[in-house]
Amino acid sequence: MGIRLGLICGDQLHWPNPVCEALDPRRDRLIMGELANETGYVWHHAKKIVLVLSAMRHFAEAAGEAGWTVDYHRFDAESEVASFSDLVERACRCHEVDEIVVSWPGEWRVLEEIQGWTSRFGVNVTILPDSRFVCGLEEFNRWASDRRQLRMEFFYRRMRKKTGYLMDGDVPAGGDWNFDKSNRKAWKGDPPAASPMSFSPDGITREVIETVSRHIDAFGEIEGFDYPVTIAQARRALAHFIRSAAAHFGDFQDAMHSDSEWLFHSRLSSSLNIGLLTPVEVCDAVEQAWRDGDMPLNAAEGFIRQIIGWREFVRGIYWREMPGYAKRNGLGNDRDLPDFYWSGQTGMNCLRETIRGTRRNAYAHHIQRLMVTGNFALLLGVLPEQICDWYLAVYADAFDWVELPNTLGMVMHADGGLLGSKPYAASGKYIDRMSDYCAGCRYKVKETTGDDACPFNALYWDFLMRHRRHFESNGRMKMMYRHVDRMSDERQRAVAQRAAFVKRRVDEL
Ligand code: FAD
Ligand code: SF4
Repeated sequence: MGIRLGLICGDQLHWPNPVCEALDPRRDRLIMGELANETGYVWHHAKKIVLVLSAMRHFAEAAGEAGWTVDYHRFDAESEVASFSDLVERACRCHEVDEIVVSWPGEWRVLEEIQGWTSRFGVNVTILPDSRFVCGLEEFNRWASDRRQLRMEFFYRRMRKKTGYLMDGDVPAGGDWNFDKSNRKAWKGDPPAASPMSFSPDGITREVIETVSRHIDAFGEIEGFDYPVTIAQARRALAHFIRSAAAHFGDFQDAMHSDSEWLFHSRLSSSLNIGLLTPVEVCDAVEQAWRDGDMPLNAAEGFIRQIIGWREFVRGIYWREMPGYAKRNGLGNDRDLPDFYWSGQTGMNCLRETIRGTRRNAYAHHIQRLMVTGNFALLLGVLPEQICDWYLAVYADAFDWVELPNTLGMVMHADGGLLGSKPYAASGKYIDRMSDYCAGCRYKVKETTGDDACPFNALYWDFLMRHRRHFESNGRMKMMYRHVDRMSDERQRAVAQRAAFVKRRVDEL
């Protein structure tokens, strides 16, 4: 009788792990691989690669200590083992294999690869559900199938009732489901901003940093790597967030500031997405902090909504809509991503600050992603595929199931409004209200036309004028079109001219 092989991918590092629970350590084996196809299918940030490879090595070590035999393939750019399929093929050559057991992967392309293994290698393949999510995919599809429109808010209320988070019996704590209105303060330096917990690289991580620096062509800065790479470290990072930042998370959730890259955000997304934390333990900790009086309701609700609302919702949309979703381009965009998205070299201070922070940290918080880099790509009309690849490459937490709907749907509105009822298009005025970026910028945020005018402004009005057919009957955008209609023809022409200039010369701005 042959053995069973359990494949653990680099974003499935949770313990207990469903693959391990389905197998027997006395006779079955685990396989894990640092694969050139995975490190190279987009130009990933160096810190993202270090994070995943180091966390994998730590996981493999812990699995070995727990009695598992782990066949672990270390990164080797020259190796003939470059993909998951190569890894499985080699294992099938070395052992008599009856069955391969995996958890549901995080990307469509990996699922397709796995689904080909039965015919390719003549073995049974079992794909287990990913147990880390609050809402299973079947449950999401049941919820979605009898709805004309899918809206996060209604899904979220269902998840609140299901989990009981912040509920007083059947009603939401504080009488409202959503306290977003209280979560829009700008930050002016008080209270002092927090920082995520920093972890010095241990021997394993230092070895990975060495490998990545020498052998992998990666984006961004590798120096200063300090992400949690084990479950124990991620739990300490969660406790640190609750202690040092959570109380102000809500008030300043939308704020941006050049003095702080983190403000009161948690930097827990990469730990969640590779399995070092589960959404339930994170939400349990936040609810407890609220019950203990350490976190106000607007903060606890805002945070829990991101996790059991947005995070679960985008995953449901991804698996329901793929593979066609990745190709959508509902606004007919046709422009290339400007080069400065990679270099950070632009005179537009908000973009420069956000992209430089991204290059340093493999991180930007949600409003920087949505209202700065995302908003600019939307207004400019960048091809969705190019901006999606950028987000997938540059952030440590980026995996297709969560990056794609956020970028293609939430930011680019390329899915025809499936994810959000209106685009998050905004002029420089929004950025000025929520940050200090405009004060340090060579452009004037109050001007729309002229050489010194903030490029977001002309692009914003031009976006509305160009896409009138799509949006003018949208109730939530009526006010914006009333503003457009109040502009004289001459003003509209001047705006369109400035927008055309910005598009033509975008890499020189
Ligand atoms: P916090 O602000 O502390 O939020 C707490 C947690 O809520 C996060 O850790 C995250 O797990 C969850 N969360 C918040 N917003 C979202 C959201 N919209 N979708 C899913 N989860 C959310 N998040 C990713 O995890 N991976 C991505 O690849 C990713 N790509 C994005 C691309 C764009 C264009 C945009 C606008 C957002 C994207 N997000 C992505 C969502 C969000 O920006 C990040 O989750 C967040 O910035 C991570 O930082 P944090 O852990 O400090 O989050
Ligand atoms: Fe960004 Fe415009 Fe403000 Fe400059 S003036 S920081 S380009 S929004």
